[in-house]
Amino acid sequence: MNNMKKPLTWLALSVSALVAFPAWGEDNMPTGRAAVEIKDGTYPASYFPNTEILGEDEIRITALGTGMPNQTKAAVSISFLVELGNGDKFLFDVGLGSNGNLFSLRPDFSKVDKVFFSHLHVDHVGDFMGLHIGGWLSGRYKPLRVFGPTGSTPELGTKAYVEAMEKGYAWDLQTRIGALPDAGAKIEITEFPYMQENEIVYQENGVTIRSWPAIHSLDGSVSYSLEWNGLKYVFGGDTYPNKWYVKYAVDADIASHEAFLPPKALAPYFGWDLGQATYVATRVHSEPAAFGKVMSAVKPRMAVGYHSVLSPENYQAILEGVRSTYDGPLTLARDLQVINVTKDAITVREASVDDYALPPSVSQAYIDAPRTEEKSPSDKVLAGKWSGYTPPPMPDDK
Ligand SMILES: [Zn+2]
Ligand SMILES: [Zn+2]
Repeated sequence: MNNMKKPLTWLALSVSALVAFPAWGEDNMPTGRAAVEIKDGTYPASYFPNTEILGEDEIRITALGTGMPNQTKAAVSISFLVELGNGDKFLFDVGLGSNGNLFSLRPDFSKVDKVFFSHLHVDHVGDFMGLHIGGWLSGRYKPLRVFGPTGSTPELGTKAYVEAMEKGYAWDLQTRIGALPDAGAKIEITEFPYMQENEIVYQENGVTIRSWPAIHSLDGSVSYSLEWNGLKYVFGGDTYPNKWYVKYAVDADIASHEAFLPPKALAPYFGWDLGQATYVATRVHSEPAAFGKVMSAVKPRMAVGYHSVLSPENYQAILEGVRSTYDGPLTLARDLQVINVTKDAITVREASVDDYALPPSVSQAYIDAPRTEEKSPSDKVLAGKWSGYTPPPMPDDK
């Protein structure tokens, strides 16, 4: 995108004519949408983004990515969006390819400002730069807040990852600073010890998020619980079945955890022999039968398995594996699956999104947020403008 000042001002004026201030807690809806209240727990069969007012006691969890690092169109890498009835929004992981699904929901990006990393595999954090820049272009006018674990050494921790990423796209950042709200360029990193057990990572506005260790590849994978309003969501980082999850996920309304491809399905997926597939599926990850054992111990209101590609043959293999060890409520998550949670009911649906959904409208607060002077190419580059083209006049600002 070219952040020339005149077009931005024109955009601001045209948008401000259409967008009213949302009340606190309410989302800034895309224009042309009027969300309705869901009465008596009767939801439409599909979830159409921005058409439902989330109940004030309710949580909505949307799977933005449920797949593998080598993605398929139907299953990008891991990310979950958690929206609360108090207006807060949280991302858990932002894996490769998940930005497309996030944007297809057209969320109020002024509230998509907190992301929690389970660990630093790219299938969990690979779309970080897209979230930072894309969210800033689409309504976030405050810093992006990143929470994640330390590693066994400083260079293997969340802070090192984020700072190195930011250096990598320094040119991009420099082109936008000044044209977009200044504060939206910033990143606030909270790194916490990966070995902490059920300690608080975040506590604001009635929401408490805790972390505990996971066992995966190297030190530095964690799981999280989010508690709010008497409801508890657990987001499991990649892991071999671990005692901390069984202990601290207890009482979860929704307990999500990897249910990796079983060895016989994993081998052809990666082109591995059965030995390699068995090692990865049962020593580095949790195969479906292991996921089922964990859920039989945790006994959540709903167990959510992910981190696979649910092709028909895989789905069958995963389901059989889980059902060999667990007979409770189960969702094998697909991308853009939506789970509404209240104290009374859990409703699982699919979102219906437009392949060409536009970015969401921005709020008046975004339009009004301070911007410094924008950059442009140097005179020696501008001197190369071709005389054979004259751009059309700028529209009148007034
Ligand atoms: Zn991993
Ligand atoms: Zn993973």
